[in-house]
Amino acid sequence: MRDITYDTFDVFFPDQCCKGEAPFCSDDCPLQVDVRDFINKTKRGSLDAAYKTFRNAAIFPRIVAELCPHPCENRCPRAAAGGSIDLLNLERAAIKNARSLDPINFNVPAKAERIAVIGAGISGLACAIRLAAKRYQVTVFEKSDRIGGRLWDLMDSEVFLDDIATQGKYAPYELVLNRQITSLDELRDFDAVYIATGEGGESFGLTADADGNPSGGPDGVFIGGRILGADTVWAISQGAAAAINIEKYLKTGAMRFQPERPRNSRVTVDTDELKSIPRVQAAAKDGFSKEEAIEEADRCLRCDCTRCIDNCEFMTYYRTEPRKVANLIAFGLADHNLEPLSNNRMVNSCTDCGCCEQVCPFDIATGDQVMAARRQMFERKQIPPAYHYYWLRDMQHATSDEGSLFLPAPHGKKAKYLFFPGCQLGASDPRYPYAAYELLRRVEPQTAVDIDCCGAPAYWAGDAETHRQMLAKLYQRWQEAGKPTVVCACYTCLRLIRRFLPDIEAVSLYQVLAQAEGLQLPDQSGRPEYALVDPCSAKYDATAREDMLALADRMNVKGQPLYKNINKMPCCSFGGNIEGAKPDLARTMRESRVQADPRPYLSYCANCRDTFAREDKPVVHILDLLADLNPDDRRPPHIDNRRANRLQAKALFTGEEVIMPEPKIKLIISEEMQNIMDKKLIFADDIRQVIDYAETTGSKFIDDQGVNIAHLVIGLPTIWVEYVKAGADSYEVLNCYLHRMSMVEPGRAESEFN
Ligand code: SF4
Ligand code: SF4
Ligand code: SF4
Ligand code: SF4
Repeated sequence: MRDITYDTFDVFFPDQCCKGEAPFCSDDCPLQVDVRDFINKTKRGSLDAAYKTFRNAAIFPRIVAELCPHPCENRCPRAAAGGSIDLLNLERAAIKNARSLDPINFNVPAKAERIAVIGAGISGLACAIRLAAKRYQVTVFEKSDRIGGRLWDLMDSEVFLDDIATQGKYAPYELVLNRQITSLDELRDFDAVYIATGEGGESFGLTADADGNPSGGPDGVFIGGRILGADTVWAISQGAAAAINIEKYLKTGAMRFQPERPRNSRVTVDTDELKSIPRVQAAAKDGFSKEEAIEEADRCLRCDCTRCIDNCEFMTYYRTEPRKVANLIAFGLADHNLEPLSNNRMVNSCTDCGCCEQVCPFDIATGDQVMAARRQMFERKQIPPAYHYYWLRDMQHATSDEGSLFLPAPHGKKAKYLFFPGCQLGASDPRYPYAAYELLRRVEPQTAVDIDCCGAPAYWAGDAETHRQMLAKLYQRWQEAGKPTVVCACYTCLRLIRRFLPDIEAVSLYQVLAQAEGLQLPDQSGRPEYALVDPCSAKYDATAREDMLALADRMNVKGQPLYKNINKMPCCSFGGNIEGAKPDLARTMRESRVQADPRPYLSYCANCRDTFAREDKPVVHILDLLADLNPDDRRPPHIDNRRANRLQAKALFTGEEVIMPEPKIKLIISEEMQNIMDKKLIFADDIRQVIDYAETTGSKFIDDQGVNIAHLVIGLPTIWVEYVKAGADSYEVLNCYLHRMSMVEPGRAESEFN
């Protein structure tokens, strides 16, 4: 057997994900104002709280709000959609609406360490106030007779002096005016020094790198501000950084530091469908009113990377994100369990639609992470079998001798193509696979056929061993056929073959047909206009949509894709274990899919087609058009018919008549009851087994209306049937349901899969 490994999976380390990193504005802001927090508070009308967020970063809020050149606007994605967010005016509005402009009063004990600040410009004062607020002993030396440095040339002295006084209210420091420091030796009694002597000032031989790490001076001496070319706001930022570094130095003796919050955020936002909203203009001269501020804040995208989450119904539903999923899996699996059951359900709710990987700027595939976890859980028997029981059983039938078929190319010649219709095409309509084969043979007569399953249900269940066996069988048949190109009618098969059997050249049936020049196709101009619904797995094929539109065009069929970007195409609800693990979420997904467009759908996946048809959506499969088979309103087959259809599909290739064995027990099943059986995934044969057992052993209840109630463990679940006798060996089914657990009853029979 060919050994299939899963080595090709990307291993997802949560650190790769940029969610939570600073938005562009905070990244570019000299003070790294926490804009997301500021905006959130403004949006909910808490301008006083927003002020505090701003003040904590700005140190001198009124000075910053007057002088900041707002570089935060440079990369704002709103710029192209109505104008960048007017943060400066929002900050001014926050100041105007704050209940108090006072800073925080840190109630901490006084510290013994003494710090000298040279220069009472804005950078020196920022450093002094930050350290003094923590009760360090700070002395500021200023060579002139006033504080403020360059601010005297830039703004109203009344405003900046008041701002400095207010923000220094709880930060007592000693101010020594008219004292010029000419040598660091004069400060040898101090534990640390910040040089902020301003433009053209004395540097005492020091320089500093962009992170504020000084060089050229003794330990404990730092430099920053205008002397290094900083403008007012950067000078404040450097003063604040110096305060942090000095405190670290005093505690550790280290002189090189990483910035507290490194810049170069990797956040990206999806602006594909961003609608333009113009910037709010203040009606009054003194800036935004509270209402205007709220409106302007509302335009903010609060930039963060949520691309994969926005396109993932499972993460949205569970209010989770890639890091949380990764951590849950890492810790849950390390503990050998994923309790509570809701976590287990969550891990089994990913549909493997691939949107996350396709939209992530770092190609992070959360879906792969989840699938890898499932494999471990399956091996440890931690996944409730009810989550995948039906689909593994269905796969067993599709791949059994009864359900599968291999036909070499005609006349023993070497095959050029190996047609692989997949297990669901014939289950949907038995004519589909043969009709597709006939079309393909018109392109290439030397076509072999392999009717089987690609192993997707096992892959989704986490059953790695069965998945390997399925792939190995396919690989062997491909070798027997002379290693031809495998032509898939299902994009899930195509995706998994390309991924796990890379030796095989695999293409889609529809690509072959779309590229076949001269292939006559029926004129379908009488059909309505369709919305083209791509299957989620088609996003892994570069030309899938193009091929489909080309085929539709050649048949004169009108239609546009339902989703602009195929990479965002979610699953119809068929993928993964979701129907078993979280049926209500699966239902919501289906409903949202069919309500997305009023036009009938054109699908090129048999599962999507049947899923939509089950919701009464008019829908055709592309083969309905290519081979002129069905109208838009074909009902989906009931689950019992799916198996029978598969056998019929196979018979169309072999020419053999399918003789279905006459069942020992005849059932009378209403349409309504059949729909219940479809929903609960109960086969008629299951019901027959329950009745047969009850009637043979007498093990049943009879209610006061004469209705028989019987049950039997079939495979894993316990199936219950309510029925009445309708004639000799004939029974009418009144109700059926199952418990996703096995009842332990000593002495009772237990059926296996049929
Ligand atoms: S206006 Fe200035 S302080 Fe405010 S966020 Fe923008 S860059 Fe930062
Ligand atoms: S949209 Fe908002 S969060 Fe994003 S960069 Fe602009 S101001 Fe910042
Ligand atoms: S594969 Fe689909 S369902 Fe799974 S995590 Fe990714 S986007 Fe979500
Ligand atoms: S797309 Fe998702 S996984 Fe990728 S960086 Fe963004 S949040 Fe993280």
